[in-house]
Amino acid sequence: MIPVRAYFLLLTDYLRPLRPRVALLGVVLFGTIGLQLLNPQLIKRFIDGALEGRGGSALIPLAVTFMLVAVAQQTLAIWSTYLAEDIGWTATNHLRANLTDHVLHLDMGFHKGHSSGELIERIDGDITALSNFFSAMMIKVVGNGALVIGVLVMLWLESWIVGLSVTIFTALALGVMTGLHRVAVPRWKAIRATAAEAFGFVGEVVEGTEDITANGAGPYMEERFDEIQRRWLPQTIRGWMGWAWMWSTTIILYGLSTSIVFILGSWLFGIGTLTIGSVYLVFHYVEMTRHPMEQIRAQMEDLQKAGAAIARVDELMTTQTKLKAEGDRSISDGALSVEFDNVTFAYADGDDGADEIVLHDVSFDIAPGRVVGLLGRTGSGKSTIARLITRLYEPQAGTVRLGGVATWDAHVADFRKRVGMVTQDVQLFRASVRDNLTFFNNAIPEDRILDAIHRLELDSWLASLPNGLDTLLESGSGGLSAGQAQLLAFTRIFLEDPGVIVLDEASSRLDPATEALIERAVDHLLEGRTGIVIAHRLGTVTRADDILILDEGRVVEFGKRSMLAADPDSRFSDLLATGMEEVLA
Ligand code: ATP
Ligand code: MG
Repeated sequence: MIPVRAYFLLLTDYLRPLRPRVALLGVVLFGTIGLQLLNPQLIKRFIDGALEGRGGSALIPLAVTFMLVAVAQQTLAIWSTYLAEDIGWTATNHLRANLTDHVLHLDMGFHKGHSSGELIERIDGDITALSNFFSAMMIKVVGNGALVIGVLVMLWLESWIVGLSVTIFTALALGVMTGLHRVAVPRWKAIRATAAEAFGFVGEVVEGTEDITANGAGPYMEERFDEIQRRWLPQTIRGWMGWAWMWSTTIILYGLSTSIVFILGSWLFGIGTLTIGSVYLVFHYVEMTRHPMEQIRAQMEDLQKAGAAIARVDELMTTQTKLKAEGDRSISDGALSVEFDNVTFAYADGDDGADEIVLHDVSFDIAPGRVVGLLGRTGSGKSTIARLITRLYEPQAGTVRLGGVATWDAHVADFRKRVGMVTQDVQLFRASVRDNLTFFNNAIPEDRILDAIHRLELDSWLASLPNGLDTLLESGSGGLSAGQAQLLAFTRIFLEDPGVIVLDEASSRLDPATEALIERAVDHLLEGRTGIVIAHRLGTVTRADDILILDEGRVVEFGKRSMLAADPDSRFSDLLATGMEEVLA
Protein backbone atom coordinates (compact mmCIF):
# COMPACT_ATOMS: atom_id res chain seq x y z
CA MET A 1 0.00 0.00 0.00
CA ILE A 2 0.93 3.62 -0.07
CA PRO A 3 3.32 4.25 2.82
CA VAL A 4 1.41 7.21 4.25
CA ARG A 5 1.98 6.35 7.88
CA ALA A 6 5.69 5.80 7.47
CA TYR A 7 5.94 9.06 5.58
CA PHE A 8 4.21 11.09 8.23
CA LEU A 9 6.11 9.36 11.01
CA LEU A 10 9.34 10.31 9.28
CA LEU A 11 8.27 13.90 8.66
CA THR A 12 6.09 14.80 11.66
CA ASP A 13 8.77 16.97 13.18
CA TYR A 14 9.26 18.79 9.93
CA LEU A 15 5.58 19.19 9.05
CA ARG A 16 4.52 20.44 12.47
CA PRO A 17 5.81 24.01 12.00
CA LEU A 18 4.08 24.07 8.60
CA ARG A 19 0.67 23.27 10.08
CA PRO A 20 -1.02 26.57 9.09
CA ARG A 21 0.10 26.07 5.51
CA VAL A 22 -1.12 22.46 5.53
CA ALA A 23 -4.50 23.64 6.83
CA LEU A 24 -4.69 26.28 4.09
CA LEU A 25 -3.86 23.61 1.55
CA GLY A 26 -6.74 21.47 2.86
CA VAL A 27 -9.21 24.37 2.52
CA VAL A 28 -8.06 25.25 -1.00
CA LEU A 29 -8.06 21.62 -2.08
CA PHE A 30 -11.58 20.93 -0.86
CA GLY A 31 -12.74 24.22 -2.37
CA THR A 32 -11.51 22.99 -5.75
CA ILE A 33 -13.37 19.72 -5.30
CA GLY A 34 -16.61 21.41 -4.29
CA LEU A 35 -16.53 23.62 -7.36
CA GLN A 36 -15.77 20.62 -9.57
CA LEU A 37 -18.85 18.85 -8.24
CA LEU A 38 -21.02 21.95 -8.62
CA ASN A 39 -20.46 22.56 -12.31
CA PRO A 40 -22.16 19.45 -13.78
CA GLN A 41 -25.27 20.35 -11.75
CA LEU A 42 -25.36 23.64 -13.67
CA ILE A 43 -25.11 21.76 -16.98
CA LYS A 44 -27.95 19.46 -15.96
CA ARG A 45 -30.21 22.42 -15.20
CA PHE A 46 -29.17 24.07 -18.42
CA ILE A 47 -30.05 20.98 -20.53
CA ASP A 48 -33.35 20.37 -18.77
CA GLY A 49 -34.20 24.07 -19.00
CA ALA A 50 -33.43 24.16 -22.71
CA LEU A 51 -35.52 21.05 -23.35
CA GLU A 52 -38.44 22.61 -21.48
CA GLY A 53 -38.09 25.55 -23.88
CA ARG A 54 -37.15 28.22 -21.34
CA GLY A 55 -35.70 31.39 -22.84
CA GLY A 56 -32.31 33.08 -22.63
CA SER A 57 -33.27 35.07 -19.55
CA ALA A 58 -33.26 31.81 -17.59
CA LEU A 59 -30.34 30.12 -19.33
CA ILE A 60 -27.80 32.95 -19.67
CA PRO A 61 -27.25 33.42 -15.89
CA LEU A 62 -26.66 29.66 -15.65
CA ALA A 63 -24.04 29.81 -18.43
CA VAL A 64 -22.27 32.78 -16.84
CA THR A 65 -22.21 31.10 -13.42
CA PHE A 66 -20.81 27.98 -15.08
CA MET A 67 -17.91 29.96 -16.55
CA LEU A 68 -17.14 31.82 -13.32
CA VAL A 69 -17.13 28.59 -11.36
CA ALA A 70 -14.82 26.95 -13.92
CA VAL A 71 -12.31 29.83 -13.75
CA ALA A 72 -12.39 29.92 -9.94
CA GLN A 73 -11.86 26.17 -9.80
CA GLN A 74 -8.77 26.32 -12.04
CA THR A 75 -7.30 29.17 -9.99
CA LEU A 76 -7.74 27.22 -6.78
CA ALA A 77 -6.20 24.15 -8.44
CA ILE A 78 -3.04 26.10 -9.29
CA TRP A 79 -2.87 27.54 -5.79
CA SER A 80 -3.18 24.11 -4.17
CA THR A 81 -0.43 22.68 -6.39
CA TYR A 82 1.85 25.55 -5.39
CA LEU A 83 1.10 25.04 -1.72
CA ALA A 84 1.70 21.29 -1.87
CA GLU A 85 5.07 21.68 -3.61
CA ASP A 86 6.08 24.41 -1.21
CA ILE A 87 5.22 22.35 1.87
CA GLY A 88 6.86 19.23 0.45
CA TRP A 89 10.13 20.97 -0.32
CA THR A 90 10.30 23.03 2.86
CA ALA A 91 9.84 19.95 5.01
CA THR A 92 12.23 17.74 3.09
CA ASN A 93 14.94 20.41 2.88
CA HIS A 94 15.11 20.34 6.64
CA LEU A 95 15.26 16.57 6.53
CA ARG A 96 18.08 16.77 3.97
CA ALA A 97 20.08 19.04 6.25
CA ASN A 98 19.48 16.82 9.27
CA LEU A 99 20.33 13.65 7.43
CA THR A 100 23.57 15.17 6.14
CA ASP A 101 24.42 16.23 9.65
CA HIS A 102 23.58 12.77 10.98
CA VAL A 103 25.75 11.04 8.39
CA LEU A 104 28.63 13.40 9.09
CA HIS A 105 28.53 12.26 12.71
CA LEU A 106 28.66 8.56 11.92
CA ASP A 107 31.85 6.68 12.64
CA MET A 108 34.67 6.04 10.22
CA GLY A 109 33.65 2.40 9.83
CA PHE A 110 30.33 3.51 8.31
CA HIS A 111 32.03 5.86 5.87
CA LYS A 112 34.51 3.24 4.78
CA GLY A 113 31.54 0.96 4.05
CA HIS A 114 29.52 3.49 1.99
CA SER A 115 30.90 5.23 -1.07
CA SER A 116 30.29 8.95 -1.50
CA GLY A 117 28.21 8.29 -4.64
CA GLU A 118 25.89 6.02 -2.70
CA LEU A 119 25.44 8.59 0.04
CA ILE A 120 24.64 11.33 -2.47
CA GLU A 121 22.01 9.12 -4.05
CA ARG A 122 20.55 8.29 -0.68
CA ILE A 123 20.55 11.77 0.80
CA ASP A 124 19.56 13.69 -2.29
CA GLY A 125 17.85 11.15 -4.56
CA ASP A 126 15.73 9.45 -1.95
CA ILE A 127 14.68 12.69 -0.30
CA THR A 128 13.69 14.24 -3.62
CA ALA A 129 11.39 11.25 -3.98
CA LEU A 130 9.95 12.18 -0.58
CA SER A 131 9.27 15.79 -1.51
CA ASN A 132 7.49 14.63 -4.66
CA PHE A 133 5.61 12.24 -2.45
CA PHE A 134 4.04 15.05 -0.46
CA SER A 135 2.69 17.04 -3.41
CA ALA A 136 1.63 13.87 -5.21
CA MET A 137 0.07 12.50 -2.06
CA MET A 138 -1.95 15.61 -1.22
CA ILE A 139 -3.04 16.76 -4.66
CA LYS A 140 -3.27 13.58 -6.66
CA VAL A 141 -4.27 11.00 -4.09
CA VAL A 142 -6.10 12.82 -1.29
CA GLY A 143 -7.61 15.40 -3.66
CA ASN A 144 -8.67 12.92 -6.28
CA GLY A 145 -9.84 10.40 -3.72
CA ALA A 146 -12.10 13.05 -2.18
CA LEU A 147 -13.35 13.96 -5.64
CA VAL A 148 -14.28 10.36 -6.39
CA ILE A 149 -16.14 10.06 -3.09
CA GLY A 150 -17.91 13.35 -3.76
CA VAL A 151 -19.00 12.08 -7.19
CA LEU A 152 -20.35 8.87 -5.67
CA VAL A 153 -22.37 10.85 -3.11
CA MET A 154 -23.82 12.99 -5.90
CA LEU A 155 -24.73 9.88 -7.90
CA TRP A 156 -26.53 8.34 -4.92
CA LEU A 157 -28.51 11.57 -4.54
CA GLU A 158 -29.43 11.44 -8.21
CA SER A 159 -30.56 7.78 -8.27
CA TRP A 160 -29.79 5.03 -5.82
CA ILE A 161 -29.56 2.41 -8.61
CA VAL A 162 -26.88 4.39 -10.44
CA GLY A 163 -25.18 5.22 -7.15
CA LEU A 164 -25.07 1.61 -6.08
CA SER A 165 -23.83 0.24 -9.43
CA VAL A 166 -21.08 2.83 -9.81
CA THR A 167 -19.99 2.38 -6.17
CA ILE A 168 -19.71 -1.39 -6.56
CA PHE A 169 -17.86 -0.98 -9.81
CA THR A 170 -15.43 1.58 -8.36
CA ALA A 171 -14.71 -0.65 -5.39
CA LEU A 172 -13.99 -3.61 -7.66
CA ALA A 173 -11.75 -1.49 -9.88
CA LEU A 174 -9.78 -0.26 -6.88
CA GLY A 175 -9.40 -3.85 -5.66
CA VAL A 176 -8.03 -5.01 -9.00
CA MET A 177 -5.61 -2.09 -9.18
CA THR A 178 -4.36 -2.61 -5.66
CA GLY A 179 -3.71 -6.28 -6.45
CA LEU A 180 -1.68 -5.39 -9.52
CA HIS A 181 0.11 -2.78 -7.52
CA ARG A 182 1.27 -5.37 -4.99
CA VAL A 183 2.99 -7.22 -7.80
CA ALA A 184 4.70 -4.11 -9.14
CA VAL A 185 6.04 -2.83 -5.82
CA PRO A 186 8.89 -5.25 -5.04
CA ARG A 187 10.13 -4.85 -8.60
CA TRP A 188 10.64 -1.14 -8.07
CA LYS A 189 12.46 -1.74 -4.84
CA ALA A 190 14.95 -3.95 -6.66
CA ILE A 191 15.49 -1.27 -9.31
CA ARG A 192 16.23 1.41 -6.74
CA ALA A 193 18.72 -0.76 -4.90
CA THR A 194 20.59 -1.55 -8.09
CA ALA A 195 20.59 2.12 -9.11
CA ALA A 196 22.17 3.09 -5.79
CA GLU A 197 24.79 0.39 -6.23
CA ALA A 198 25.58 1.56 -9.76
CA PHE A 199 26.01 5.19 -8.72
CA GLY A 200 28.14 4.13 -5.80
CA PHE A 201 30.32 2.09 -8.10
CA VAL A 202 30.73 4.95 -10.57
CA GLY A 203 31.64 7.33 -7.75
CA GLU A 204 34.25 4.93 -6.47
CA VAL A 205 35.79 4.42 -9.89
CA VAL A 206 35.90 8.15 -10.60
CA GLU A 207 37.62 8.78 -7.27
CA GLY A 208 40.15 6.09 -8.02
CA THR A 209 40.79 6.95 -11.66
CA GLU A 210 44.49 7.50 -11.12
CA ASP A 211 45.15 4.18 -9.42
CA ILE A 212 42.86 2.23 -11.73
CA THR A 213 44.50 3.54 -14.87
CA ALA A 214 47.99 3.18 -13.52
CA ASN A 215 47.39 -0.42 -12.55
CA GLY A 216 45.62 -1.34 -15.76
CA ALA A 217 42.45 -2.25 -13.87
CA GLY A 218 40.29 -0.44 -16.46
CA PRO A 219 38.96 -3.58 -18.20
CA TYR A 220 38.18 -5.20 -14.85
CA MET A 221 36.21 -2.13 -13.73
CA GLU A 222 34.39 -2.08 -17.05
CA GLU A 223 33.44 -5.67 -16.55
CA ARG A 224 32.08 -4.99 -13.09
CA PHE A 225 30.15 -2.04 -14.44
CA ASP A 226 28.82 -4.29 -17.18
CA GLU A 227 27.73 -6.82 -14.60
CA ILE A 228 25.69 -4.22 -12.71
CA GLN A 229 24.12 -2.96 -15.94
CA ARG A 230 23.23 -6.50 -16.90
CA ARG A 231 21.28 -6.90 -13.66
CA TRP A 232 19.76 -3.46 -13.93
CA LEU A 233 18.16 -3.86 -17.37
CA PRO A 234 16.03 -6.97 -16.74
CA GLN A 235 14.94 -5.50 -13.41
CA THR A 236 13.87 -2.30 -15.14
CA ILE A 237 11.98 -4.24 -17.78
CA ARG A 238 10.15 -6.22 -15.12
CA GLY A 239 9.37 -3.01 -13.26
CA TRP A 240 7.92 -1.32 -16.31
CA MET A 241 5.99 -4.44 -17.33
CA GLY A 242 4.20 -4.29 -14.00
CA TRP A 243 3.39 -0.69 -14.77
CA ALA A 244 2.10 -1.63 -18.25
CA TRP A 245 -0.27 -4.15 -16.72
CA MET A 246 -1.74 -1.53 -14.45
CA TRP A 247 -2.07 0.89 -17.34
CA SER A 248 -3.93 -1.46 -19.66
CA THR A 249 -6.21 -2.59 -16.87
CA THR A 250 -7.36 0.99 -16.25
CA ILE A 251 -8.31 1.40 -19.91
CA ILE A 252 -10.43 -1.75 -19.85
CA LEU A 253 -12.06 -0.69 -16.59
CA TYR A 254 -12.89 2.68 -18.08
CA GLY A 255 -14.57 1.08 -21.10
CA LEU A 256 -16.66 -1.07 -18.79
CA SER A 257 -17.78 1.84 -16.64
CA THR A 258 -18.92 3.87 -19.68
CA SER A 259 -20.97 0.90 -20.92
CA ILE A 260 -22.64 0.49 -17.54
CA VAL A 261 -23.63 4.16 -17.44
CA PHE A 262 -25.11 4.09 -20.94
CA ILE A 263 -27.11 0.92 -20.31
CA LEU A 264 -28.43 2.14 -16.95
CA GLY A 265 -29.05 5.65 -18.26
CA SER A 266 -31.12 4.63 -21.28
CA TRP A 267 -33.17 2.21 -19.15
CA LEU A 268 -33.86 4.74 -16.40
CA PHE A 269 -34.73 7.41 -18.97
CA GLY A 270 -37.04 4.90 -20.72
CA ILE A 271 -39.02 4.24 -17.53
CA GLY A 272 -39.08 7.94 -16.73
CA THR A 273 -36.95 7.95 -13.57
CA LEU A 274 -34.25 10.28 -14.99
CA THR A 275 -34.48 13.35 -17.22
CA ILE A 276 -32.09 13.79 -20.15
CA GLY A 277 -30.26 16.36 -18.05
CA SER A 278 -29.84 13.80 -15.26
CA VAL A 279 -28.60 11.13 -17.65
CA TYR A 280 -26.02 13.60 -18.91
CA LEU A 281 -25.16 14.48 -15.34
CA VAL A 282 -24.52 10.85 -14.49
CA PHE A 283 -22.39 10.40 -17.58
CA HIS A 284 -20.44 13.56 -16.81
CA TYR A 285 -19.81 12.54 -13.19
CA VAL A 286 -18.60 9.08 -14.14
CA GLU A 287 -16.39 10.66 -16.78
CA MET A 288 -15.02 12.93 -14.04
CA THR A 289 -13.86 9.94 -12.02
CA ARG A 290 -11.84 8.65 -14.93
CA HIS A 291 -9.10 11.25 -14.71
CA PRO A 292 -8.67 11.03 -10.92
CA MET A 293 -8.63 7.23 -11.00
CA GLU A 294 -5.97 7.33 -13.68
CA GLN A 295 -3.94 9.81 -11.68
CA ILE A 296 -4.22 7.73 -8.56
CA ARG A 297 -3.08 4.72 -10.59
CA ALA A 298 -0.12 6.61 -12.07
CA GLN A 299 0.69 7.92 -8.64
CA MET A 300 0.66 4.47 -7.06
CA GLU A 301 3.87 3.69 -8.84
CA ASP A 302 5.62 6.91 -7.79
CA LEU A 303 4.33 6.59 -4.27
CA GLN A 304 5.59 3.07 -4.13
CA LYS A 305 9.00 4.23 -5.23
CA ALA A 306 8.76 6.75 -2.43
CA GLY A 307 7.93 3.85 -0.12
CA ALA A 308 11.29 2.31 -0.89
CA ALA A 309 12.93 5.71 -0.40
CA ILE A 310 11.19 6.23 2.95
CA ALA A 311 12.40 2.87 4.21
CA ARG A 312 15.94 3.69 3.14
CA VAL A 313 15.96 7.21 4.59
CA ASP A 314 14.58 5.81 7.81
CA GLU A 315 17.25 3.17 7.89
CA LEU A 316 19.96 5.77 7.37
CA MET A 317 18.44 8.02 10.02
CA THR A 318 18.39 5.20 12.57
CA THR A 319 21.91 4.02 11.79
CA GLN A 320 23.66 4.62 15.07
CA THR A 321 27.21 5.73 15.22
CA LYS A 322 29.45 3.13 16.78
CA LEU A 323 31.01 5.94 18.74
CA LYS A 324 29.71 5.97 22.28
CA ALA A 325 27.56 8.89 23.34
CA GLU A 326 29.29 12.22 23.52
CA GLY A 327 30.15 13.56 26.93
CA ASP A 328 30.39 17.16 27.94
CA ARG A 329 33.67 17.36 29.79
CA SER A 330 36.03 19.84 28.26
CA ILE A 331 39.71 19.16 27.84
CA SER A 332 42.24 21.44 29.42
CA ASP A 333 44.50 23.82 27.51
CA GLY A 334 48.18 23.23 26.93
CA ALA A 335 50.01 19.97 26.37
CA LEU A 336 47.92 16.89 27.15
CA SER A 337 48.77 13.46 28.45
CA VAL A 338 47.79 10.52 26.23
CA GLU A 339 46.87 7.30 27.94
CA PHE A 340 45.85 3.93 26.49
CA ASP A 341 44.35 1.66 29.09
CA ASN A 342 44.08 -2.00 27.99
CA VAL A 343 42.81 -1.02 24.55
CA THR A 344 41.71 -3.82 22.23
CA PHE A 345 40.48 -2.90 18.79
CA ALA A 346 39.27 -4.51 15.55
CA TYR A 347 38.01 -2.71 12.44
CA ALA A 348 35.34 -5.21 11.44
CA ASP A 349 32.60 -5.33 14.00
CA GLY A 350 32.14 -9.03 13.87
CA ASP A 351 29.28 -9.02 11.32
CA ASP A 352 30.85 -12.10 9.83
CA GLY A 353 32.20 -13.26 13.16
CA ALA A 354 35.75 -13.14 11.89
CA ASP A 355 36.90 -9.75 13.13
CA GLU A 356 40.60 -9.53 13.07
CA ILE A 357 42.03 -7.90 16.15
CA VAL A 358 44.42 -5.11 15.22
CA LEU A 359 45.41 -3.91 18.68
CA HIS A 360 45.77 -6.40 21.55
CA ASP A 361 45.43 -5.03 25.05
CA VAL A 362 47.57 -1.97 24.37
CA SER A 363 48.50 0.15 27.38
CA PHE A 364 50.85 3.10 27.63
CA ASP A 365 50.93 6.48 29.31
CA ILE A 366 52.54 9.50 27.68
CA ALA A 367 53.17 12.47 29.96
CA PRO A 368 52.20 15.95 28.72
CA GLY A 369 54.83 17.56 26.52
CA ARG A 370 56.68 14.34 25.71
CA VAL A 371 57.41 13.40 22.13
CA VAL A 372 57.06 9.71 21.44
CA GLY A 373 58.44 7.98 18.38
CA LEU A 374 56.04 5.23 17.38
CA LEU A 375 57.81 2.48 15.48
CA GLY A 376 56.74 -0.83 14.02
CA ARG A 377 56.56 -2.79 10.82
CA THR A 378 53.96 -1.93 8.22
CA GLY A 379 50.58 -3.20 9.36
CA SER A 380 51.60 -3.33 13.01
CA GLY A 381 48.83 -0.87 13.96
CA LYS A 382 50.56 2.52 14.13
CA SER A 383 47.98 4.43 12.08
CA THR A 384 45.26 2.63 13.99
CA ILE A 385 46.56 4.08 17.26
CA ALA A 386 46.46 7.52 15.65
CA ARG A 387 42.84 6.96 14.60
CA LEU A 388 41.86 5.95 18.11
CA ILE A 389 43.50 9.05 19.57
CA THR A 390 41.53 11.26 17.18
CA ARG A 391 38.43 9.15 17.94
CA LEU A 392 37.66 8.18 14.38
CA TYR A 393 36.98 4.74 15.83
CA GLU A 394 36.02 3.50 19.25
CA PRO A 395 37.98 0.67 20.91
CA GLN A 396 36.07 -2.57 21.60
CA ALA A 397 37.59 -2.75 25.04
CA GLY A 398 39.69 -0.43 27.16
CA THR A 399 39.88 3.34 27.41
CA VAL A 400 41.72 6.11 25.60
CA ARG A 401 42.27 9.20 27.76
CA LEU A 402 43.48 12.63 26.76
CA GLY A 403 44.54 14.96 29.55
CA GLY A 404 42.97 12.46 31.95
CA VAL A 405 39.53 12.59 30.26
CA ALA A 406 38.22 9.43 28.59
CA THR A 407 37.45 10.14 24.92
CA TRP A 408 33.73 9.40 25.28
CA ASP A 409 33.43 11.71 28.29
CA ALA A 410 34.72 14.59 26.25
CA HIS A 411 32.76 17.07 24.22
CA VAL A 412 33.50 16.00 20.64
CA ALA A 413 34.01 19.39 18.98
CA ASP A 414 36.15 20.55 21.87
CA PHE A 415 38.08 17.34 21.81
CA ARG A 416 38.81 17.43 18.08
CA LYS A 417 40.17 20.95 18.49
CA ARG A 418 42.69 19.75 21.04
CA VAL A 419 44.03 16.95 18.85
CA GLY A 420 45.82 17.57 15.59
CA MET A 421 46.73 14.91 13.09
CA VAL A 422 48.71 14.92 9.88
CA THR A 423 48.14 11.69 8.02
CA GLN A 424 50.13 9.88 5.40
CA ASP A 425 48.10 11.47 2.64
CA VAL A 426 46.95 15.03 3.16
CA GLN A 427 43.52 15.85 1.76
CA LEU A 428 43.31 19.22 0.06
CA PHE A 429 40.23 21.08 -1.13
CA ARG A 430 39.71 22.75 -4.46
CA ALA A 431 40.18 26.22 -3.03
CA SER A 432 42.89 28.76 -2.24
CA VAL A 433 45.84 27.91 -0.02
CA ARG A 434 44.35 30.28 2.55
CA ASP A 435 41.06 28.34 2.70
CA ASN A 436 42.95 25.08 2.84
CA LEU A 437 44.91 26.37 5.82
CA THR A 438 41.96 27.78 7.75
CA PHE A 439 39.37 25.18 6.73
CA PHE A 440 37.28 28.04 5.31
CA ASN A 441 37.22 29.84 8.65
CA ASN A 442 37.22 33.50 7.59
CA ALA A 443 37.56 34.61 11.19
CA ILE A 444 41.28 33.75 11.16
CA PRO A 445 43.10 36.94 10.19
CA GLU A 446 45.84 36.98 7.58
CA ASP A 447 48.38 38.09 10.19
CA ARG A 448 47.89 34.90 12.14
CA ILE A 449 48.33 32.76 9.05
CA LEU A 450 51.51 34.59 8.05
CA ASP A 451 52.76 34.44 11.61
CA ALA A 452 52.20 30.68 11.73
CA ILE A 453 54.04 30.21 8.46
CA HIS A 454 56.89 32.36 9.74
CA ARG A 455 57.16 30.50 13.04
CA LEU A 456 57.30 27.20 11.21
CA GLU A 457 60.10 28.73 9.07
CA LEU A 458 58.09 28.11 5.93
CA ASP A 459 58.48 31.55 4.38
CA SER A 460 60.44 30.08 1.48
CA TRP A 461 57.62 27.61 0.90
CA LEU A 462 55.10 30.45 0.82
CA ALA A 463 57.33 32.41 -1.55
CA SER A 464 57.46 29.40 -3.88
CA LEU A 465 53.67 29.46 -4.35
CA PRO A 466 52.79 31.41 -7.51
CA ASN A 467 50.05 33.55 -5.94
CA GLY A 468 50.99 33.26 -2.29
CA LEU A 469 48.02 32.54 -0.04
CA ASP A 470 45.63 33.00 -2.95
CA THR A 471 47.13 30.19 -5.03
CA LEU A 472 44.33 27.88 -6.10
CA LEU A 473 44.78 24.20 -5.33
CA GLU A 474 43.15 21.24 -7.02
CA SER A 475 41.23 18.75 -4.92
CA GLY A 476 42.91 15.52 -3.78
CA SER A 477 46.64 16.09 -3.62
CA GLY A 478 46.16 19.64 -4.86
CA GLY A 479 48.90 19.63 -7.43
CA LEU A 480 51.43 19.82 -4.60
CA SER A 481 54.18 17.34 -3.96
CA ALA A 482 53.83 15.06 -0.94
CA GLY A 483 56.34 17.21 0.95
CA GLN A 484 54.63 20.49 0.12
CA ALA A 485 51.27 19.03 1.11
CA GLN A 486 52.73 17.99 4.48
CA LEU A 487 54.03 21.50 5.06
CA LEU A 488 50.59 22.87 4.34
CA ALA A 489 49.07 20.39 6.76
CA PHE A 490 51.56 21.45 9.48
CA THR A 491 50.51 25.08 9.13
CA ARG A 492 46.88 24.03 9.26
CA ILE A 493 47.44 22.24 12.56
CA PHE A 494 49.61 25.02 13.97
CA LEU A 495 46.71 27.45 13.48
CA GLU A 496 44.45 25.16 15.50
CA ASP A 497 46.94 25.12 18.38
CA PRO A 498 46.14 21.62 19.69
CA GLY A 499 47.53 19.99 22.82
CA VAL A 500 48.42 16.70 21.16
CA ILE A 501 49.84 16.26 17.70
CA VAL A 502 49.89 12.97 15.87
CA LEU A 503 52.17 12.86 12.86
CA ASP A 504 51.75 9.89 10.60
CA GLU A 505 54.82 10.41 8.53
CA ALA A 506 54.66 9.64 4.83
CA SER A 507 56.92 6.71 4.09
CA SER A 508 57.88 8.11 0.68
CA ARG A 509 61.34 9.59 0.50
CA LEU A 510 61.66 13.33 0.14
CA ASP A 511 64.40 15.46 -1.35
CA PRO A 512 66.92 16.69 1.27
CA ALA A 513 65.83 20.34 1.03
CA THR A 514 62.17 19.57 1.66
CA GLU A 515 63.12 17.09 4.33
CA ALA A 516 65.13 19.72 6.16
CA LEU A 517 62.17 22.12 5.93
CA ILE A 518 59.86 19.47 7.33
CA GLU A 519 62.24 18.57 10.14
CA ARG A 520 62.44 22.16 11.30
CA ALA A 521 58.69 22.73 10.93
CA VAL A 522 58.03 19.62 13.02
CA ASP A 523 60.39 20.89 15.71
CA HIS A 524 58.44 24.12 15.97
CA LEU A 525 55.13 22.33 15.75
CA LEU A 526 55.93 20.08 18.69
CA GLU A 527 57.16 22.87 20.99
CA GLY A 528 55.06 22.84 24.13
CA ARG A 529 52.82 20.02 22.93
CA THR A 530 52.60 16.28 23.32
CA GLY A 531 53.72 14.59 20.14
CA ILE A 532 53.21 11.12 18.75
CA VAL A 533 55.35 10.71 15.71
CA ILE A 534 54.92 7.67 13.56
CA ALA A 535 58.35 7.58 12.09
CA HIS A 536 59.83 5.86 9.09
CA ARG A 537 63.11 7.73 9.12
CA LEU A 538 65.90 7.84 11.62
CA GLY A 539 66.00 11.63 11.42
CA THR A 540 62.49 11.85 12.78
CA VAL A 541 63.19 9.40 15.57
CA THR A 542 66.13 11.31 17.04
CA ARG A 543 63.74 14.07 18.05
CA ALA A 544 61.69 11.70 20.22
CA ASP A 545 62.02 11.66 24.02
CA ASP A 546 60.51 8.19 24.25
CA ILE A 547 60.24 5.26 21.89
CA LEU A 548 57.26 2.95 21.58
CA ILE A 549 57.65 -0.15 19.40
CA LEU A 550 54.60 -2.03 18.17
CA ASP A 551 54.62 -5.55 16.80
CA GLU A 552 51.46 -7.13 15.44
CA GLY A 553 49.27 -4.90 17.54
CA ARG A 554 51.18 -5.35 20.79
CA VAL A 555 53.46 -2.95 22.60
CA VAL A 556 56.80 -4.71 22.71
CA GLU A 557 58.93 -1.85 23.96
CA PHE A 558 58.27 1.51 25.55
CA GLY A 559 60.91 3.63 27.25
CA LYS A 560 63.23 6.62 27.17
CA ARG A 561 65.01 6.81 23.85
CA SER A 562 68.43 7.41 25.39
CA MET A 563 68.06 4.43 27.71
CA LEU A 564 66.80 2.11 24.97
CA ALA A 565 69.60 3.19 22.66
CA ALA A 566 72.15 2.48 25.38
CA ASP A 567 70.75 -0.97 26.14
CA PRO A 568 72.34 -3.42 23.66
CA ASP A 569 69.52 -5.97 24.20
CA SER A 570 66.68 -3.59 23.30
CA ARG A 571 64.79 -3.86 20.04
CA PHE A 572 65.45 -0.20 19.47
CA SER A 573 69.22 -0.56 19.50
CA ASP A 574 68.72 -3.55 17.21
CA LEU A 575 66.81 -1.32 14.82
CA LEU A 576 69.49 1.34 14.99
CA ALA A 577 72.15 -1.23 14.22
CA THR A 578 70.35 -2.80 11.24
CA GLY A 579 69.26 0.59 9.93
CA MET A 580 65.61 1.32 10.47
CA GLU A 581 64.95 2.42 6.90
CA GLU A 582 65.54 -1.13 5.80
CA VAL A 583 63.41 -2.68 8.51
CA LEU A 584 60.49 -0.30 8.69
CA ALA A 585 60.08 1.32 5.30
P1 ATP B 1 51.98 1.39 7.80
O1 ATP B 1 53.34 1.44 8.36
O2 ATP B 1 51.96 0.66 6.51
O3 ATP B 1 51.27 2.68 7.72
P2 ATP B 1 50.44 0.76 10.16
O4 ATP B 1 51.29 0.28 11.28
O5 ATP B 1 50.02 2.19 10.18
O6 ATP B 1 51.13 0.41 8.78
P3 ATP B 1 47.63 0.17 10.33
O7 ATP B 1 47.19 1.05 9.23
O8 ATP B 1 47.39 0.62 11.70
O9 ATP B 1 49.18 -0.20 10.14
O10 ATP B 1 46.96 -1.24 10.12
C1 ATP B 1 46.98 -2.28 11.08
C2 ATP B 1 46.12 -3.43 10.59
O11 ATP B 1 44.78 -3.01 10.46
C3 ATP B 1 46.53 -3.99 9.25
O12 ATP B 1 46.45 -5.38 9.34
C4 ATP B 1 45.50 -3.47 8.29
O13 ATP B 1 45.25 -4.42 7.29
C5 ATP B 1 44.29 -3.27 9.17
N1 ATP B 1 43.50 -2.09 8.73
C6 ATP B 1 43.95 -0.83 8.59
N2 ATP B 1 42.95 0.02 8.23
C7 ATP B 1 41.84 -0.75 8.14
C8 ATP B 1 40.47 -0.47 7.80
N3 ATP B 1 40.05 0.76 7.51
N4 ATP B 1 39.60 -1.52 7.82
C9 ATP B 1 40.00 -2.77 8.14
N5 ATP B 1 41.25 -3.09 8.45
C10 ATP B 1 42.19 -2.09 8.46
MG1 MG C 1 50.08 3.70 8.68
